[in-house]
Amino acid sequence: MFSEPPGSMFLNTMKTKEIKICEHCKTEFSISLEEFYLYQKVGIEFPVICFFCRTKLHLSFWFFGKFRKGKSDLSGQSLITVLPEKSRYPIYTLSEWYSDKWDAMDYGRDYNPDISFLKQLQDLQEKIPHPHQSGTNNTLCDWSDDVWNSKNCYLSRSLEGCEDLFYSYRNLQVKNSIDAVVCFNSEKCYDCSDCHHSYKLFYSRHSRDCIDSYFLYDCRNCQNCFMCWNLRGKSYCIENIQYEKKEYEEKIKLLKLTSYASIESHKKHFEEVIKEEVVHRPNFNLKAYNSDGNYLLDVKNCHNCNTFSNSEDCSNCTRGLNNKSSVDADGCWYSELIGNCSCCVNSYALKYSCHSSSRYSEYLDLCIECEYCFGCVGLKKKKYCIFNKQYNKEEYEMLQDKIVSDMRVLGEYGQFLPYSMGAGPFNFSNAFIYFPETKKEDILALGGYWEDIDESHIEGMPTDKLPDDIKDVSDTITTQALICPETGWRFNVAADELSFYRQNNIPLPRKHFDVRIKDQLKYLTILHSCPYVCFYCHKNIEAHYLPEWKYQKIACEECYKQNIS
Ligand SMILES: [Zn+2]
Ligand SMILES: [Zn+2]
Repeated sequence: MFSEPPGSMFLNTMKTKEIKICEHCKTEFSISLEEFYLYQKVGIEFPVICFFCRTKLHLSFWFFGKFRKGKSDLSGQSLITVLPEKSRYPIYTLSEWYSDKWDAMDYGRDYNPDISFLKQLQDLQEKIPHPHQSGTNNTLCDWSDDVWNSKNCYLSRSLEGCEDLFYSYRNLQVKNSIDAVVCFNSEKCYDCSDCHHSYKLFYSRHSRDCIDSYFLYDCRNCQNCFMCWNLRGKSYCIENIQYEKKEYEEKIKLLKLTSYASIESHKKHFEEVIKEEVVHRPNFNLKAYNSDGNYLLDVKNCHNCNTFSNSEDCSNCTRGLNNKSSVDADGCWYSELIGNCSCCVNSYALKYSCHSSSRYSEYLDLCIECEYCFGCVGLKKKKYCIFNKQYNKEEYEMLQDKIVSDMRVLGEYGQFLPYSMGAGPFNFSNAFIYFPETKKEDILALGGYWEDIDESHIEGMPTDKLPDDIKDVSDTITTQALICPETGWRFNVAADELSFYRQNNIPLPRKHFDVRIKDQLKYLTILHSCPYVCFYCHKNIEAHYLPEWKYQKIACEECYKQNIS
């Protein structure tokens, strides 16, 4: 247990490289030198749970949810949210939440030294309203969440600068696309993941600068290609074989791209190609200096980070950008010296907090532009507050010291907010996307929530009754409720969506849109590397692919470069 402030005991600990047992999963973990320096620099306590349990807990505060209609608990105004129907807290519309129609200081209370601090914080949290969605500066994005500076996006989450998207997740500057997952600066794409700067790219992964192509894996600067991998600057290729333009066009016509059954068989073949033929690089890092992790871009001295860009001196961060000297910070942007935080932006010296943008503070939830606050929820532009109550500087410092020492007695200090303070059921959070094997009973045992949504009472058409070919789909389909075969959840085909499928010869999807997003994310959410032997030079390497994917040709960086065309 580390409970004292940094000092010689920690240096001794480092020398002996103490093995710790994770308080959640009971597996062993230790602290690396990089982590050790960052814990000291940021000034946070050493963790009592392992990296995976820390990330899982943080990401459980980042709600994925299921879109539903609801009403504001303030005005009764109708709203669309991903927050749970049976929520522990009131829900206000985003504009009401930011308005002066309510004041979080009205909920202020005294600290009671006889009750656990975290219990009191949770009690306060349950009284404070949550905004129904996050994001600003959007037009016609009501059916979306965590969307910023975007226009006309539907049933999508985590977007920045996007337009005309359906059913998409974590995209930057993507336009007029459907089922785009972790894509950047692309247009008119369908069913693509980790694709950049592409136009009319379909059913593809890990490709850049590609146009008018289908089923590409790790291709760059390719045009009019079908079922290709590891290609650079090619046109008119099918299965990496070069054709003449005319010949290519003739062959493409025979591939029946408008048929669902035919697309499914191409998809099956694509999976085989990925297993057997693709030369897989150890990771998808680009411009990563002295760093390790996956999907790193423009980073320096970043360790054990994932989907992380433009950052320096960070460890154990998943999903973030523009961060400096931060540790155990997940879903955080534009922050410095923050530690053990989830979903914080524009923050400095912030600890053990979530959904906040604040400085020199600890244990905040939903606090905007606050300084020197401790244990507060929903405050805006406040200073020296504890439990949403105003103090002067001296009173604040004395009470904070008292609370920290009480928390140390209970072993609470330095731990992140517990699962019981999460926004909703674990299985509808981003944590379940990264840790899909998590068991309901384990989350309930840790005080968390779980919900099985049953929509079997809703009538609709099973999707196996849909016409196989998009050409045979009539306009009336947009009035028909469809039932996902995997979840039993209801979904629809929107009119604009149908015209996108028709224009691009794409058969109707059969599964619920959230299931489709999760199917794609499976390959982008592995937070650890696995040991492999390079297929070519037999050197020992670490690569971010699970052994059960059975990829045959995993190569070291050098051999990868030599063996792609
Ligand atoms: Zn653990
Ligand atoms: Zn090699």
